[in-house]
Amino acid sequence: MHVGIAGAGLMGRLLAWRLLQRGCQVSLYDDHAPAGCASAAMTAAGMLAALSEAAEGTTAMATLGAGAVVAWRQLLAELAAEGAPPVWFQGRGSLVVAHPADAADLERLRRLLTTRVAADRFHTLDAAALSELEPELAGRFDGGLYLPEEGCIDNRQLLVSLEWVIRQLGGEWHAGTSVKEAAPGQLRLADGTQYFDLAVDCRGAGAVGQCPGLRAVRGELLRIAAPELQLSRPVRLAHPRYQLYIAPRADNSYVVGATEIESAASHAVTVRSALELLSALFSLHPAFAEAEILEMNAAHRATFTDHLPRVEATPKWLRVNGLYRHGFLLAPTLLDKALAALPLPQAVPMAAVS
Ligand SMILES: Cc1cc2nc3c(=O)[nH]c(=O)nc-3n(C[C@H](O)[C@H](O)[C@H](O)COP(=O)(O)OP(=O)(O)OC[C@H]3O[C@@H](n4cnc5c(N)ncnc54)[C@H](O)[C@@H]3O)c2cc1C
Repeated sequence: MHVGIAGAGLMGRLLAWRLLQRGCQVSLYDDHAPAGCASAAMTAAGMLAALSEAAEGTTAMATLGAGAVVAWRQLLAELAAEGAPPVWFQGRGSLVVAHPADAADLERLRRLLTTRVAADRFHTLDAAALSELEPELAGRFDGGLYLPEEGCIDNRQLLVSLEWVIRQLGGEWHAGTSVKEAAPGQLRLADGTQYFDLAVDCRGAGAVGQCPGLRAVRGELLRIAAPELQLSRPVRLAHPRYQLYIAPRADNSYVVGATEIESAASHAVTVRSALELLSALFSLHPAFAEAEILEMNAAHRATFTDHLPRVEATPKWLRVNGLYRHGFLLAPTLLDKALAALPLPQAVPMAAVS
């Protein structure tokens, strides 16, 4: 089966890997270079936040994203077994805290999780328990919520690892190649239409205008280096207007995000957004004042009105989109769902592929 995939972001790469494992010939098209920072996948914080995302108003992720940490552990073990570059991953849970003035927002999240999710999927911490779990926050907050099933993944290392395994398995990578239109069995490029047994559309926000109901929501975040601070898990700051989260990486750098703006504009991070993110960060811990700002990035999250993803499979056609703020959280589930919808043989063992 020859598969043409439009979009080599998160879903495009995961699908390419799995389809190559099943003996398909895969041609992957992306309008950017593999390490380009334009995609949501390259920009994202990589939080696996099934429960704390309820702070944004929906509890659907608590069901859809349950088991994400376990599923990623398995996927990463498979990548490692295939010899792919390592991916930093952490599944030690996450914390939600609030300043006294915003205690009502933390309490609202706690009630929402208790009544609409499950009281046994999180723990309410007092100040002492919070300090024990995350010593850097000692004395800074009266308590918080601990969400043991959450985690985070280094999104950029994951993309590098997937690119490596795709090339290793013989995937054809057409970087800098825009797909103007995708349809069953075909991808239209600038220099003509390519025909496939299966066409896959994973263009994320790049498919807005060609995928009914899909829109782009802008998100901005910062990458900082703060060697003197040792947060060991993601921390979210409950706030009435915006939710700051900080996701650690292996090298004492952190991803700080993220704004949520109803706009498809693709300019650089605004002063307002940078001020909001940085002031919230400083309020989480004043030692962040000495951190270095490494990058400020903006990208678009593709979403439908209900903020839920779609997997559509018809003969010669697969489209996965609408992953919104939860692409990394939901990817393992969506990957299985997409593959189950296709008429494919079972995975071919690595030895047989080479
Ligand atoms: C600021 C921000 C923070 C985020 N944080 C998190 C988080 O902490 N946790 C989480 O789970 N999710 C997070 N997300 C969401 C997550 O990044 C997305 O849900 C996920 O990347 C979507 O995957 P995708 O493959 O559908 O799209 P993308 O990852 O955007 O990939 C789409 C690919 O298609 C390519 N493309 C687009 N148009 C064309 C075209 N015409 N021709 C060829 N190629 C094209 C793009 O270059 C890109 O490589 C965040 C997103 C943003 C923007």
